[in-house]
Amino acid sequence: MTREPTEPTGPIPWTGPTPDDAPATAGSGLVVRGLRKTYGDHVAVDDVSFRLAPGSSLGIVGESGSGKTTTVRMLVGLERAEAGTVTLDGRDRSARPRGRAERLARAREIQMVFQDPYLSLDPRITVGGCVDEVLRLHSPLGPAARAARVTELLDQVGLGPREAAALPRALSGGQRQRVAIARALAAEPRVLVLDEAVAALDVSIQAQILELLATIRREAGVGYLFVTHDLGVVRHVTEEVVVLRHGRIVEAGPTGQVLDAPRHPYTRLLLDSVPRRGWDPARIAEARSAVG
Ligand code: ADP
Ligand code: MG
Repeated sequence: MTREPTEPTGPIPWTGPTPDDAPATAGSGLVVRGLRKTYGDHVAVDDVSFRLAPGSSLGIVGESGSGKTTTVRMLVGLERAEAGTVTLDGRDRSARPRGRAERLARAREIQMVFQDPYLSLDPRITVGGCVDEVLRLHSPLGPAARAARVTELLDQVGLGPREAAALPRALSGGQRQRVAIARALAAEPRVLVLDEAVAALDVSIQAQILELLATIRREAGVGYLFVTHDLGVVRHVTEEVVVLRHGRIVEAGPTGQVLDAPRHPYTRLLLDSVPRRGWDPARIAEARSAVG
């Protein structure tokens, strides 16, 4: 593996289970090995590997442009990886799907919630209808059973019949994000990818959604890939974290350990960049130019 000469230190080795330890079998969860993506001569994602155990929660952190979204888009199949493999419980997701059934099965297994749910909800369809769409695609249920399931899913995210009958634009940002989560859960995924899913929300609404997500994970046993630039968020909702910089993982490990005792200078810089008492933007800017 080659390093750019400006890299101050090598990547901090993973202290948790490594992808190579993971058997490619039923309980192995999501195993990502050596993912790479370039746009022209710009390397957006370079040799990214990690593992998400079933039902656990992994944070992918890094500044804007560090390759977080590109990484998860490759996992869900919105983007094709140039190199690397992705397996979920031993099933290879890297090869082109063979037919509609396999494509649907893959789409179902990893669901994504985006920063702006307004873009992923059809403005002409009621909230209940938006959830029902997913059930029609992925479940064998008939109309009556689907209606009951829609009510159940919306209830799970704290929405009632009044919201179910409303159009997305009648809801608040936090409520729309709840709909997006219900829609994702309707597919009964193994993994939920949340890409800056609370970034656009007010802090108090953020807390409510994070609390809701924690409850859902306990109850549904779904694994989370939590993509965020916000280190405060990962502390509350993830068990492990990988730090991306310029498309590469520079540090990875248990969340508490990485946040409380960061070993890579870039992670320390990210932590120091969070505004708090005694925060000094000028010093941060200086440290940043030192890290390169
Ligand atoms: P993040 O989600 O961490 O902000 P992204 O994965 O969106 O980062 O982007 C990583 C890098 O790849 C950035 O430099 C971005 O400009 C570039 N990039 C992302 N998508 C495209 C694209 N479709 N075409 C060209 N460059 C892209
Ligand atoms: Mg992004």
